[in-house]
Amino acid sequence: MSTSKTSSAGTVSTDAATGKPPKTVFPEPVQFDLNSYRCPRCQTTMAAESYGPCQNCVAELKATQRGEATGEIAAAYEPKMNVTPNAVALKDD
Ligand SMILES: [Zn+2]
Repeated sequence: MSTSKTSSAGTVSTDAATGKPPKTVFPEPVQFDLNSYRCPRCQTTMAAESYGPCQNCVAELKATQRGEATGEIAAAYEPKMNVTPNAVALKDD
């Protein structure tokens, strides 16, 4: 008759000496590696001197932003004279 070693139900993960639970060991914070990180826009692994989107995304963004600023959208906008000029400002005295 062999008594199998059963895990005692009374075991608590506390330090017997102090009665406190063991200290939580946090892993070392991972240094952000600019030599190899993922582009926040297209998730392509890339390297750069400072954090930001990859060159493809930068070029793409520049093109689209420039288009919005001076492209068709700006050309299509026709300002309307909804506001009447200030009568006081036009007053010639
Ligand atoms: Zn990108």
